[in-house]
Amino acid sequence: MKEASISNELFQRAQRSIPGGVNSPVRAFKAVGGNPLFIKSAKGAYMYDEDGNRYIDLINSWGPMILGHAADVVQQAVQEAIPGSLSFGAPTRKEIEIAELIVEMVPSIEKVRMVNSGTEATMSAIRVARGYTGRSKIIKFEGCYHGHGDSFLIAAGSGAITLGVPDSPGVTKGVALDTLTAPYNDIEAVKALAAANKGEVAAIILEPVAGNMGLVLPQPDFLLQLRTLCDQEGIVLIFDEVMTGFRLAPGGAQELFGVTPDMTTLGKIIGGGMPVGAYGGKKEIMEFVAPAGPVYQAGTLSGNPIAMSAGMAMLQFLKNNPGVYKQLEQTTTNMVNGMKQNLQQLGLNYTINQVGSMFSIFFTQQPVVDFASAKTSDTALFGRYFNSMLSKGIYLAPSQYEALFVSTAITDELVSEYLQTNLQALKEAHS
Ligand SMILES: *Cc1c(COP(=O)(O)O)cnc(C)c1O
Repeated sequence: MKEASISNELFQRAQRSIPGGVNSPVRAFKAVGGNPLFIKSAKGAYMYDEDGNRYIDLINSWGPMILGHAADVVQQAVQEAIPGSLSFGAPTRKEIEIAELIVEMVPSIEKVRMVNSGTEATMSAIRVARGYTGRSKIIKFEGCYHGHGDSFLIAAGSGAITLGVPDSPGVTKGVALDTLTAPYNDIEAVKALAAANKGEVAAIILEPVAGNMGLVLPQPDFLLQLRTLCDQEGIVLIFDEVMTGFRLAPGGAQELFGVTPDMTTLGKIIGGGMPVGAYGGKKEIMEFVAPAGPVYQAGTLSGNPIAMSAGMAMLQFLKNNPGVYKQLEQTTTNMVNGMKQNLQQLGLNYTINQVGSMFSIFFTQQPVVDFASAKTSDTALFGRYFNSMLSKGIYLAPSQYEALFVSTAITDELVSEYLQTNLQALKEAHS
């Protein structure tokens, strides 16, 4: 077991001034037992805690660190931007450059608005969809997370599942009534909702690959069937690509699966580690956003020059080095195949889902295709597995219901180390 006395001390201290000691609930180790580690620094594949322990990081800031921590291209861009002041609250050239790059990279986006988080992006996108259609209701999917906006905290995935508060206090009944939910991958349920609420549904929003109930892939044609339904019913189709954008392909899941939504929300990678989000889509829809149109949405620090510099460096690198995606997928496939061999060797039969550089192991023998099947996982077993991995220097997401993210800093050597540790941790978790 690694020494964690400084982290433990910091956690005690943090709880006195910060609710639960953390600034975002998924960082707490509530679902797996134990106290969160306090991180001091990170470089490449490794993260270092306050006690001086080193970990191979498979969270990568929940996605943004696709090139590993403190990637030179991003660090350099930030350093170059700093002397020119940290913020103006006035237009800059960089905002046009990143907007043009996003329009070029993401198939559905003709115009884009920068915001400061994924939550802001999804909240704004549904407001625009409502303004554009003149309708009130939205359809979301059980287990999909779209940030902590009121409308989305219904069957909300990840943090909410983990803590067992799927319907948060503070979300009014009125808001909840406008949010309809369907099981992921269940097109018949969506059609039934659309029929029962004909002419009232403004938007269908989903993660085109779900990463917030553990990793769940869309079944063949699910995205296309949603596209068709939205076209028939005049519903705005929103892909929440906060996690998958720039990760599964330069143009995200919509490029990978060849289905173009009307609107897209982005976050995580788009800021290169800085707090950035964006929403965009068809010109005729985005023209509804103020000051071009009547739907109000604003942000004092939106398009912040330092954040734009980091994001721009990241996106440019990914666009100019498409080989990154093959490399990431190969590394991840090697990890997943090795884990399958480990499971076989131990006579275990758990489900592993993977797409590109994202994967999840579910401690269930059922295929995981939606929230109900994800919930058949043995979360106590996951907790033991997580803590065993952590004690051996591998930092996983502290919940069964999260995806893991591979970075380009994971070398073949680190894959071997990961797989040896995985074998030991699986054994320990079962003993
Ligand atoms: C992380 C995430 C969000 C919320 O983004 P924040 O930057 O945490 O507000 C929204 N949607 C999806 C799919 C996410 O993974």
